[in-house]
Amino acid sequence: MSSPDLHTPTWEMESEYAGLDALQLAEEQEEIRLAITMLEQHAQAFRSALGQELSADAARTLVETAWEVYRVEKKADLLLDNQMSYAYMVWSTQARNQDAKTLLEKLKRLRAQLTQATQPVDLFLLHASDAVYQDYLSGEAVQNSLFQLRYGRRLNKRLLGLPEENLITSLSLDGPNAWSNLYNNITGSVSYEFENERGERETVGIARLQSLLGENSEVLRKKAYAGLNQVFGQHEESCAAILNALAGWRLELGKRRSHTESVHFLDEPLHLNRISKPTLETMMQVVKEQKHLGQQAFHLMARLLDKPRLDPWDVNASSPAFGHARRHITFPQAMEMIEEAFNEVNPEMGAFARMMADKRWIDAAAAPNKTPGAYCSGFPRSRNPRVFMTYLGSSVDMIVLAHELGHAFHSWAMREMPQEQTHYPMTLAETASTFAETVVRNFLLQRCKTPAEKLEILWQEISSIPRFTLNIPTRYEFEKRFYEGRSERSYSPQDFRDLMRTVWNEWHGDSTSAADEMFWASKLHFYIVEPSFYNFPYTFGYLFSQGIYAEKEQRGADFYNFYVNLLQDTGRMTAEDLVQKHMGLNLGEPTFWLHCLKPLAKNLKAFEQAVGEWLE
Ligand SMILES: [Zn+2]
Repeated sequence: MSSPDLHTPTWEMESEYAGLDALQLAEEQEEIRLAITMLEQHAQAFRSALGQELSADAARTLVETAWEVYRVEKKADLLLDNQMSYAYMVWSTQARNQDAKTLLEKLKRLRAQLTQATQPVDLFLLHASDAVYQDYLSGEAVQNSLFQLRYGRRLNKRLLGLPEENLITSLSLDGPNAWSNLYNNITGSVSYEFENERGERETVGIARLQSLLGENSEVLRKKAYAGLNQVFGQHEESCAAILNALAGWRLELGKRRSHTESVHFLDEPLHLNRISKPTLETMMQVVKEQKHLGQQAFHLMARLLDKPRLDPWDVNASSPAFGHARRHITFPQAMEMIEEAFNEVNPEMGAFARMMADKRWIDAAAAPNKTPGAYCSGFPRSRNPRVFMTYLGSSVDMIVLAHELGHAFHSWAMREMPQEQTHYPMTLAETASTFAETVVRNFLLQRCKTPAEKLEILWQEISSIPRFTLNIPTRYEFEKRFYEGRSERSYSPQDFRDLMRTVWNEWHGDSTSAADEMFWASKLHFYIVEPSFYNFPYTFGYLFSQGIYAEKEQRGADFYNFYVNLLQDTGRMTAEDLVQKHMGLNLGEPTFWLHCLKPLAKNLKAFEQAVGEWLE
């Protein structure tokens, strides 16, 4: 629990809703229900039209109805999203509040009803001929969504007939979703006897073991690692069955969808992330050629930990306490530093941070029943963001705060834009947040008084390099090779261990003493249904934000406008178009990625020097 003198705030919610019992909530839900009824009535005409030859007049009538559906749906969406945000945020600060849970449940049901009500229209549009679709795109109602609609249309070549599509949707509940649930059930129910720092035996779950890997005590990390290996060893047959089933399902689906053009297992995750295959391939190739950067970071971290090289239980270690008592930074002090750091980018950005604190749009207090983690959310109606975290006064907490304020700034920069153009893909989602982190870290570095302080901050910066340029690519390549092999046969636990070891060693070289062979079983991301290949967007996001930081150094006073304009376009174009438009660079060429890697080499040099000074 935080000491009260950290002066951490709780957030203001009353300007959005008076409370969980506000009449306004019930009134808006009634409006949503009315909208759903109206949409259900409209849906009938689309259902009957599916699979039929339509006259031009009949098609035109449906297109006009589709515009009306779009308007009604958007309005209901806004109310629903607004309430969802509210319910989720209240629940995060009071996880035991039954009223918040009830409201969330109610809204989820409404969301499902709304989705179902518009499904026939969505399917009609997906199956519509190009001419009918063009007609639809000319409507005034959809002008703000042209990018999304055109982009989504790309998937229409892999559509199956309506009965097949319905069958896939209903079977997937007991197919991939059930497999993924099984994984969650296993990892959620496992318990392990663990001896803590005080020599007491403690029964812990997997989440606790995994968080112990981030400790700065090697004894704890090593025990946690052994625990994870034991637990996942016991369940390796189930884990292997789940991975085989998930990949098998996706590959089979891809085969069926290949009726017009061949569908690859990477097509869907690429589409979701709004990047092309050449972009992904170029990025991975450049990162592989530059893998020495991440390896060098590991070697330097090993020197600080006084070992020849890192062991697999060290790769997520937090910085060792460099022989000094950790200083507590109060929340107002942290905000002041962040404001000053943001000011160096532009006074508007500093003023934004100040406003977030002044308006009490940040919930940072440690409180019982608050959920763990940190996030940035917001209200789609007022367009006002909120930041959630538990602030305990460490420099890591301050960086987390900067990260979330970066997200908030991204949404603030878009607040005047049509709602439809503000949804960005995962590849671009972490740009503003990681950039804000980097800005604050560099600000702190310039003001470090002791070598210990300097090392502390640089450790945080440097440990990101292997995380995003070795570990994530290892996950990607492991998964890709598995999918390639899976079309021929199933994999046994031994096959998975062998493949993980091979790929791990290719990327990590001699920078770790051994591969984390059970990583294929212990990493949740391999077991998520949507999206598949939940890995490469992390590397993309990290490198992209580094590239943006490099622009800041190059552009000087012009940077801020460039930055805000770029953020504003993240929800209305592909990543390729974004970079071409704002930076004049091609994501399919190595030049862009080398540009992004530049700050990494510079930071490594600074770290190497700091390590040398410290060990002298
Ligand atoms: Zn983030």
